[in-house]
Amino acid sequence: MDYQAVLDEVAAHVKPQIGRGRVAQYIPALASVDADRFGIAIADVDGHVTGVGDWERPFSVQSISKAFSLALVLADDGEKLWRRVGREPSGNPFNSLVQLEYENGIPRNPFINAGALVVTDRLHTLTGDASTTMLDFLRAESGNPDLAFDQEVAVSESAHGDRNAAVAHFMASYGNLHNPVPTVLEHYFWQCSIEMSCRDLALAGGFLARHGLRADGSRLLSQSEAKRVNAVMLTCGTYDAAGDFAYRVGLPGKSGVGGGIVAVVPGRCTLCVWSPGLDARGNSVAGVAALDHFTTLTGWSVF
Ligand code: GLN
Repeated sequence: MDYQAVLDEVAAHVKPQIGRGRVAQYIPALASVDADRFGIAIADVDGHVTGVGDWERPFSVQSISKAFSLALVLADDGEKLWRRVGREPSGNPFNSLVQLEYENGIPRNPFINAGALVVTDRLHTLTGDASTTMLDFLRAESGNPDLAFDQEVAVSESAHGDRNAAVAHFMASYGNLHNPVPTVLEHYFWQCSIEMSCRDLALAGGFLARHGLRADGSRLLSQSEAKRVNAVMLTCGTYDAAGDFAYRVGLPGKSGVGGGIVAVVPGRCTLCVWSPGLDARGNSVAGVAALDHFTTLTGWSVF
């Protein structure tokens, strides 16, 4: 497969979609990002990476971090996590509170904000420093020691974080956070603020295509656990658009409001696409279109 040619064709195909949608506004530091950016990268299971467009330009990973925090907790803790968070699609927006009351403070899945806060809480208990653990992991997997938090984004989100604070306090009222709410929120905002490029993320998500093996060949997840993370990405990774994403793209994927999406072709490769214009559900318009066209061209969906 000539990845470069495929990615060039994908980029040409989605050109009319670039700049469509809206850049996330509710985190003020994200609102100034240029909507006309587009990049896509593909890393094969041997760590060879190819990209086009703005594939080496860092952006805010936001909720893509939720796939990595889930993997890190499963690696350490195994199945125990599922006592505190479910694994069903929510059918509701990523920052929704409504289901928490009916389900006694147990979030629907680890990829909506409520679920990710529980995962961050557990990672913090396990490691003593959830956000640094994640940054170290991402540096190692991407081979990029310069990865860093974006302090402006973290502070900006914290200053406008009433919704996430409400979600966290509500879960704490059911005893489903074990660290103080401000600590959990702080680590959650820091991990969302990490800046990475498509190149970095395609490489960092390589363990999901390698059935759980890290970049250095050591094992992070069992084959079964890697399948499970991919399964939750497929069913919940793009929130209330997960059905449409499966229909159009047919791959496990995890999006973020920075405009990035990581998608996995198990056994073959990991992709990352970035374009900041979002649809109403918070997924990149051009990003979904690019992955849609990629799987149409290659036939590489999980279906
Ligand atoms: N940090 C963002 C939030 O909590 C992440 C949301 C997202 O990327 N979908 O609202």
